[in-house]
Amino acid sequence: MSVHIEGDCFIVTFHNNVTHNSVTVTDVKTSAAAQDTKAQRASMAKSKPQQTLKTSISCAGVGLHTGTMVNMTMHPAAPNTGIIFRRTDLDVSQGGGADIKAYALGVGDTQLGTTICAEGEHAAKATISTIEHVMAALAGCSIDNAIIDVDAPEVPVMDGSSAPFVRLIECAGVEQQGAPRRYIRILRPVEIRGEDKHAVLEPHDGFALHFEIDFPSAAIGRQEIAIEMGDPCFKDDIAAARTFGFVKDVEMLRSMGLARGASLENTVAIDGDTVVNDDGLRFKDEFVRHKLLDAVGDLYLIGAPIIGRYRGVRSGHALNNQLVRALLADPDAYEITTEAPSTELRTAHQAGGAAAVASVAAAPA
Ligand SMILES: [Zn+2]
Repeated sequence: MSVHIEGDCFIVTFHNNVTHNSVTVTDVKTSAAAQDTKAQRASMAKSKPQQTLKTSISCAGVGLHTGTMVNMTMHPAAPNTGIIFRRTDLDVSQGGGADIKAYALGVGDTQLGTTICAEGEHAAKATISTIEHVMAALAGCSIDNAIIDVDAPEVPVMDGSSAPFVRLIECAGVEQQGAPRRYIRILRPVEIRGEDKHAVLEPHDGFALHFEIDFPSAAIGRQEIAIEMGDPCFKDDIAAARTFGFVKDVEMLRSMGLARGASLENTVAIDGDTVVNDDGLRFKDEFVRHKLLDAVGDLYLIGAPIIGRYRGVRSGHALNNQLVRALLADPDAYEITTEAPSTELRTAHQAGGAAAVASVAAAPA
């Protein structure tokens, strides 16, 4: 990685090839009445300010599917903007420069990552894929508002984790804004079940996540992790977990024009029961940590931080997006509030740290 400064903008360049990705987008439905009422009731002493970046910052890296170099710049944004992507490689007639809101209801494909689409006439062309890892970094760093320019149909995959995006945000710095942070508080459980998988959102005073996976490959096996989100828990224990894929799937994906940027530089590759990467794993349970990272990014597409508990068993981008859509379709299941959860009102020392993580790993180190 190299870092230099051009004008007001830091440039951070990662020299990478690329691999897998997945994304989910959520929608934020804003019930104006509920929002206003709750905001009035909330004590300002219990709220937290919205946050954005202090300055613009850029990175470049390979796109997972195109295999070509992608430039991405994150900009500060005004309060209540949310997270917005823009395509800078398209001309205006194709949706170039149009807002592509990071919102669950704008999610198109979820097969190999989350793809979001512009609204209206540009929906077909103005799309951005593989947004989940940068969305997880924004959630983990408590960035409420940002505009992200990308000169390709996908976000650079970098090293296959959220860590490069966390470093990018830390290089730019975080600025508090003059508006209270808005949360979506889960009021009653919402659940989506598949044949052998499920995902649940339920009430909880904080943002907790629990994830279980079970793969037939002995390289992964059964893994389980539970965290209470907070700084530095996400940055220290989750952000660096890389995406993973199976060697047996590569030929099929490439025949479909996908995963052209995938490599051992950005993916943990598994061949049968063996991890192929020479340098092994970053965590003995890196796989389930990455699935939890994906869920953090997928859930942030709801458009606001969640006050609640997520539980996922063999879940993925598609199921996570269905879960968020189910929540947004049930106005009695949530409320919008500016009252922060108690976990965010504690100090970072009290709320974060390795003690917040519990994991069970069946995989070899
Ligand atoms: Zn992922």
